[in-house]
Amino acid sequence: MTKPSADRQPTLAELAGKAAPPQGGVPAALCCEPYWRQIPDASGGERLPQPEKVDVAVIGSGFTGLSAALTLVRAGRSVAVLEKDQLGAGASTRNGSQLGSGNQKFHVKTLIEMFGELKAKALLLEGVAMLDYIEELIRVEKLDCHFGRCGRFRGAVRPAHYDAMARDMEDLRKHAGVESFMVPKEDQHKEIYTDFFHGGSVLPDDASLHPGLYHHALVTRLRDSGAVLLEETPALGIEADGREFVVSTPAGPIRAANVIAATNGYTRGFDRYLSRRIVQVPSSVIVTETVPQQTIDALMPAKRMYGNSARVFFYFRAAPSEPRLIWGGRVGRMVRANTPHAFGHLAADMLRVFPDLGAVKATHGWTGQIGYTFDELPHLGKTPKGIHFAMGYCGTGVTRSTYFGHKIALKVLGDPKGRTEFDDITFPTHPFHFVADRAVPVVESWYRVKDSYT
Ligand SMILES: Cc1cc2nc3c(=O)[nH]c(=O)nc-3n(C[C@H](O)[C@H](O)[C@H](O)COP(=O)(O)OP(=O)(O)OC[C@H]3O[C@@H](n4cnc5c(N)ncnc54)[C@H](O)[C@@H]3O)c2cc1C
Repeated sequence: MTKPSADRQPTLAELAGKAAPPQGGVPAALCCEPYWRQIPDASGGERLPQPEKVDVAVIGSGFTGLSAALTLVRAGRSVAVLEKDQLGAGASTRNGSQLGSGNQKFHVKTLIEMFGELKAKALLLEGVAMLDYIEELIRVEKLDCHFGRCGRFRGAVRPAHYDAMARDMEDLRKHAGVESFMVPKEDQHKEIYTDFFHGGSVLPDDASLHPGLYHHALVTRLRDSGAVLLEETPALGIEADGREFVVSTPAGPIRAANVIAATNGYTRGFDRYLSRRIVQVPSSVIVTETVPQQTIDALMPAKRMYGNSARVFFYFRAAPSEPRLIWGGRVGRMVRANTPHAFGHLAADMLRVFPDLGAVKATHGWTGQIGYTFDELPHLGKTPKGIHFAMGYCGTGVTRSTYFGHKIALKVLGDPKGRTEFDDITFPTHPFHFVADRAVPVVESWYRVKDSYT
């Protein structure tokens, strides 16, 4: 599916199964390399020899791992980042690029029921602080990545969702001081040119960036600061002898005073405690060819991030530097086939919102792994073996992984500023954790049924 020629790319209508492909044409194909990785001047970087000993070994080169590594090298520690694939091969360069505080995961009311008012408020406020943190990091480190506080519109897929969202936005303002406003259906075209939604909510302080550029900029800062970034270096196992850790890799062991596991939705194999707590949930994104800028301006006049209110969520935006649409959501039932059919449901969703785009071609389609947890909360801390970890962002992780990476690094440094409101929340497993990955499609289908009734 990689690098197909333009005449093999399917239109959205073809992809959605609403139009037949041209007679006698070759089978349609999409580029499966994430669009975000097309960075013109990105060099592979120098391949450094694997060190025998470091202060901290960080496993995983996504935003959690790189953010942790940056905090550590800035504090004068020697750091090796181990990546089993290419740098940033995981969700960090595969996502939808929508940045929020993570506070939309639960209704405020639900969070209060779970934790009581005081703790819920503290968690909500820390969510807001996370978004401020990533903005500050990008400013201070001069990370060139199209960061902007463009705001997010969330469309109600049912009239009742609009009222529930209004109540939740009011609770968010009351308990965490987060400003928002509701957009009734009759004013919706100021935000988005569709009649698909029954109005929606806007969080004007939510943000966006270009994840490929953000990741590339973090890699560059780390290389300039002397961190060792090791590609195609899987951590096969981690042993602890009470004094130090030994991380085994195919090229030999690395000894480290501390280890940070930053593997999120790709956590399998090297540590049982973590594998039993992370459910791997796949998620997909498609990108269109460039369309006239006027089309983007007309469809998304407010130039925000966009999403819906359903349990089986979809989200979209215009690309940051050229007029394309980027659209993400659940994986298709045929994802294993790795063909354009695997993305047909995303094209179908896009055409339900923007019915006039049927003739526009899709160019890219890819899938990545979200790290889900049994309580739908992110977690950081130490395993019984003493491995530090930060993961489980449940699909809203660009902001949270950056912040949690920083916090876990502060904990390694013994800095009291590493304290978070998430410290005392137990990281749960489940007796049936071993079938959880396989149960994901079943749960998703059930949610789809519920979405069609409530
Ligand atoms: C399709 C999709 C869309 C998303 N959209 C959004 C969005 O719009 N907004 C948002 O906030 N979040 C979104 N997310 C979630 C967000 O991208 C992630 O939460 C975040 O990038 C996690 O970063 P991370 O560094 O923890 O993990 P990752 O970026 O996944 O990095 C983990 C890395 O660990 C490596 N690894 C695993 N095991 C080993 C090992 N044994 N040895 C060495 N390396 C190993 C993997 O190869 C991988 O590169 C999305 C995710 C996906 C998949």
